[in-house]
Amino acid sequence: MSAKIKKYAGERIKTADLRAGKVPVVRWRPKVRYAWSTGIAMSRFLKELKNGKIIARKCHKCNRIVVPPRMYCEMCFRPTDEWVYVKDSGIINTYSISYLAADATRTDKPTVVAVIEIDGASKGIGIVHIIGEAKPKDVTFGMKVKAVWKPPKERTGAITDIKYFKPVEV
Ligand SMILES: [Zn+2]
Repeated sequence: MSAKIKKYAGERIKTADLRAGKVPVVRWRPKVRYAWSTGIAMSRFLKELKNGKIIARKCHKCNRIVVPPRMYCEMCFRPTDEWVYVKDSGIINTYSISYLAADATRTDKPTVVAVIEIDGASKGIGIVHIIGEAKPKDVTFGMKVKAVWKPPKERTGAITDIKYFKPVEV
């Protein structure tokens, strides 16, 4: 038997409450300066996202096409060989319905987080993103989806340049 929790005990604290000083908060601004390289494969992947494209790497030994791209093949223990553009569509491999926001607060509206097998990449290989323009109850395994991109001027070279993936009619 399972009972669905309808009301959570305690008071919900939102980021806005912290900022407004409604709860005790310790603040400090550390002087941390650093640079972080995303590496050859991820740098190219992010640059291509800014152009509205998804790029992968192909291994000529096992012929797998992996996305996000990697400069090595973990199956063959050798460098991958070639850049390959893949499509901005795919199918839902698996998904989860989340009631947590990015700041770990509970949300009233659910977000569907999915692993999307990208068309053109090898079977079972894909990226994690969110599903939009669909009710969670209507999302299914194997559902065909397509990327909804931010307008070019708003893209920054991040995975969020894709706003979400939406279901497409088959
Ligand atoms: Zn390989």
